[in-house]
Amino acid sequence: MIKRVFRSICLVAIVVFLASLALIMGALYEYFSDVAQGQLKMQTSLAAQGVGNEGMEYFRGLEVANYRISWIGADGSVLYDSESDHAAMENHLEREEVREALASGYGESRRYSSTLMERSLYCAQKLGDGTVLRLSMYQNSILMLLWGMAQPVCMVIAIAVILSVVLAVRISRNIVKPLNEIDLDHPLSNEGYDELSPLLRRIDSQQRQLQGQKADLLQKQNELDTIIGSMNEGMVLLNQKGKIISMNPAAGKLLDAAPGRAGADMLSLCRGLGLQEILTKALRGEQGENRIYLRGENYQINADPIVAGGTVIGTALFFFNVTEKERAEQMRREFTANVSHELKTPLHSISGYAELLKNDIVKEGDKVSFAGKIYDEAQRMIQLVEDIISLSCLDEGGGDMQREDTDFYDLARSAVCSLEAQAEAAGVTVKVSGESAVLEGIPRLLYSIVYNLCDNAVKYNRRNGSVDVTVRRGKEGIVLTVEDTGIGIAPEHQGRIFERFYRVDKSRSKEVGGTGLGLSIVKHAAKIHHAGIEMESTVGKGTAVTVTFPDV
Ligand code: ADP
Repeated sequence: MIKRVFRSICLVAIVVFLASLALIMGALYEYFSDVAQGQLKMQTSLAAQGVGNEGMEYFRGLEVANYRISWIGADGSVLYDSESDHAAMENHLEREEVREALASGYGESRRYSSTLMERSLYCAQKLGDGTVLRLSMYQNSILMLLWGMAQPVCMVIAIAVILSVVLAVRISRNIVKPLNEIDLDHPLSNEGYDELSPLLRRIDSQQRQLQGQKADLLQKQNELDTIIGSMNEGMVLLNQKGKIISMNPAAGKLLDAAPGRAGADMLSLCRGLGLQEILTKALRGEQGENRIYLRGENYQINADPIVAGGTVIGTALFFFNVTEKERAEQMRREFTANVSHELKTPLHSISGYAELLKNDIVKEGDKVSFAGKIYDEAQRMIQLVEDIISLSCLDEGGGDMQREDTDFYDLARSAVCSLEAQAEAAGVTVKVSGESAVLEGIPRLLYSIVYNLCDNAVKYNRRNGSVDVTVRRGKEGIVLTVEDTGIGIAPEHQGRIFERFYRVDKSRSKEVGGTGLGLSIVKHAAKIHHAGIEMESTVGKGTAVTVTFPDV
């Protein structure tokens, strides 16, 4: 801009200067021509008087420099001429000044030479005898004048140009300075040109608008980043060439890639036919899903095409960890198979014994024993079904069960009391010790914990063995310990006995009426109460199970 202003100022200054120079020179030339014409007129008047008095005598010995003097007869013939031979000169009647003088007594004219180099001024005066005296002088034409003054004129022009350039530089800088100093961050605080005020106001309002939009965008971006960043599922956005545009931290961790790996090829980070297949589908505009095995876990990948204006511009990939889900599904399948199997055995027994009784092929003395076996199997089934019901309740999380303050010591005593007959039959002594310990929990589940542990301690004991049940309140919370002097559990089984239907010795478990679900129920019930379970067992010596309920 500064260059443009500078050029404009220079151009205007030079044009104005040259135009002024031409006009002034023209005006001066005309002025001095008028002055010279005036002098010539006076000279003509004086010479006319002389010629009027003396006639031809006046010219004798007349010395005229710079002037030409001519005496013209009334018929236009030249009677005398100070420069040329008058006899050879043409008739002057048609000359403008002569014609005017003859007509009105005085005439004048100005004429350029054929080369425009000179200009002649003429003054003619009519004498008393009808003749005309004419004086003329030469004057340089304006072109010649300029030519003669070329040197000083050029100097003046040079000085004017230099001055114009210097002034133009300064003026253009001064004009542009306020524009350069405009603070666009605070448009209204500028005190430059008044003409800029509407523009600055407009900039200010647009800036406010932009800032508002920017803040909105930033907020939305932050919200989106927070949502995407806190997602447990991996999310990767790809362009239409399968290159990564962005990914959330979960995906970065899963693919072992820094979140800034934008531009990397997705398939170079995660190879696999499954992924390739759904990516190809997504680029065709079709939604796809597949399962892949990554870092020891199973993932379901969903690929959704991102469509804009009818064309696929990228793909959104989502990674869902389905390991737990698959494990739960597997467990459910196993559980169903186990339940069916566990129910089938007593049902077969019941059906067999009942068939024998129905066909009346059982000896009269064996009938009671058969009925007893049917009863035992039915009891086992009832126990099994009850355990299954308890477990499915626990699988639901026990959320709708009422929590209330429960004295754990009382629960232990009541459980032991209900096991008294069973213990006596097994020849096992059961003892409860400790102190009252009130805990806020689900009484039914707390009871099932202590009952199942005591039941196992009696079932897997030896004759004349003992069971010690202790309830105490320690600094870690309420601690229940069930210690027996039974058969113990080998170390390789200790980690698995809490699994559903896992039994160390299946036949012994069945013999003592076990279902293989007791410890699973204990584990779930403890989990609902945030309790921890520890087990110490030595084969042939006994087992001690400790359940700790931390203070909430
Ligand atoms: P069950 O109904 O068969 O007793 P549990 O889930 O209660 O099922 O126990 C699983 C298995 O753990 C039992 O079959 C048994 O082999 C073993 N077990 C549990 N408690 C004891 C214990 N106190 N002493 C020895 N073995 C035990």
